[in-house]
Amino acid sequence: MLIDTHAHLIDEKYEENRSEIIEGLQNNRMEILINPAVDLDTSRKGIQLAESWNFIFAAVGYHPHEARHASEEDLKEIEKLSTHPKVVAIGEIGLDYHYDFSPREIQQEIYEKQIDIAKRQKLPIIIHSREAHQDTFDILERNKEGLAGVLHSYSGSWEMAKRYLDLGFYLSISGPITFKNAHKLPEVAEKVPLDRILIETDSPYLTPAPYRGKVNNPAYVRYVAEEICRLRNIEFEELLLQIKENTLALFTKIEM
Ligand SMILES: [Zn+2]
Repeated sequence: MLIDTHAHLIDEKYEENRSEIIEGLQNNRMEILINPAVDLDTSRKGIQLAESWNFIFAAVGYHPHEARHASEEDLKEIEKLSTHPKVVAIGEIGLDYHYDFSPREIQQEIYEKQIDIAKRQKLPIIIHSREAHQDTFDILERNKEGLAGVLHSYSGSWEMAKRYLDLGFYLSISGPITFKNAHKLPEVAEKVPLDRILIETDSPYLTPAPYRGKVNNPAYVRYVAEEICRLRNIEFEELLLQIKENTLALFTKIEM
C-alpha cells in the first residue's frame, strides 16, 4: 500500500506520460493521492483528474507564487469548486519569501482569504512555507479556531515544528529526508508524534534518493517512508497503516 498526500500530476512535466504514470501507480497499490493546485486552472484540471480516478483526490487554491494573479472573482470560483465531492482540502496556500514571486503583502492577504474559505467550507488547508515560518505561523495562530491542516514538505526546525503541532497541525515529510545533507529534517521525522505525520513526494519536485536529480514520481513515496521507518525503527506496514489513519483523520472528505 502507498499514500502520497501531495503530488502535482497536472504539472507540464507529465504532459507526455500522465496516464502511464497514473496506471503505474494503480499497479503499485497507491491507495490515496492528493493533487494540490497552484491556481484556478490547475484547480479545475485537478478535479477532472480526480473524477477519472478513484484513488486521486484534489485540493483547490492559489499557491503563494501565483497570489498576485488571484482576483476576488477567482477566489469565489475556488470556493465554488471546493464543494465538489472529490475536493478534500484548500491548497496549496501559504507564503514563499525565498522566491518572492508575489509581493509579500499580497501573499499574506491571499493566504488568509483562503484560510477563510477553508473555515467556511470546513476543509483542511495544505500549507506551503518557505523562509517564512514566523509569518506562516502567526497567521495560522490568529485563525486557529476551527482550522486544521498540514505543513507540506516541512523543512523547518524541530523547535518550530513543536509550535505547529501545538496548534494541532500535521507535518508532511518528503524527499529531502533521504538526502545526505538533510540537516534538521531527520530530527523532525524522528520526534513528530506518529499520529501527526504524513508523507508525500511533491512530485515532480524534490525527488528522493536514489533518483535525486530526475523527475519525481508519486511511487517514490516508498523511499520517504522507508527512511522514516529506518529513523524510527518501525516496520513499513505499520507506518503506512498509521499514515492512512492520519490521512483519513485530516482529510475527512476522503471516503474509503
Ligand atoms: Zn506542492
